[in-house]
Amino acid sequence: MTKIGVFLDYKELRELMVKTQLIPRGIKDARVLNAMKKVPRHIFVDERIQQKAYDDTALSIGEGQTISQPYMVAVMTELLELKGDEKVLEIGTGSGYQAAILAELAREVFTIERVALLANKAREKFLALGYNNIHVRVGDGTLGWPEEAPFNRITITAGGPKIPEPLLEQISEGGLVVAPVGDKFTQQLLKIRKSGKTFSKEKFTPCVFVPLIGEHGWKEE
Ligand code: SAM
Repeated sequence: MTKIGVFLDYKELRELMVKTQLIPRGIKDARVLNAMKKVPRHIFVDERIQQKAYDDTALSIGEGQTISQPYMVAVMTELLELKGDEKVLEIGTGSGYQAAILAELAREVFTIERVALLANKAREKFLALGYNNIHVRVGDGTLGWPEEAPFNRITITAGGPKIPEPLLEQISEGGLVVAPVGDKFTQQLLKIRKSGKTFSKEKFTPCVFVPLIGEHGWKEE
């Protein structure tokens, strides 16, 4: 039973989400699947749409922004190859959901959001849920977080024309960047691995993200 009167069993919906949306599409990393089963996604959306939180879709979080589809969160997280001791930088805090997933799987998460209202809401959620390994900054994430660099992993959850140069400079040796890159309407997930002075690139699924706006992204219209 997932529905008792108007009461939704969110834990059960999370299990169902993993079983029907993530495993059949090839998500295999047990740590990622467990984090997706654990983090209460409904807490990161508006109360009036909480019943849709585990649907197979992105949802509006206000300010013209979105919380990504659960599958996309899982794919990006799996591509980051987290083992537990990493320092991670996320660009595009949005609702805070992806940062919470990362915080379950890595040592420390630094997340940057350009819309102050969203950053503040996410901060409140982290506090309420007891995530004390997430640090939030308001600003242009395309510049990275130089005072905290280097990062073992960087992920961008907004679509840009390229991986911003400052982020490539802030990745540690052997580190990875996972980000959607393309035009304003469609992108492709890229994984960049730094090895010595070289960066190797792998391409993954096509995707659609809101634009990465900033000095090394798209210009604000
Ligand atoms: N990771 C988010 C989550 O779990 O809800 C989803 C992020 S949403 C798809 C993309 C976010 O990136 C938006 O909140 C947007 O304001 C933010 N953004 C866009 N450009 C940015 C930039 N240069 N620096 C920081 N945040 C940016």
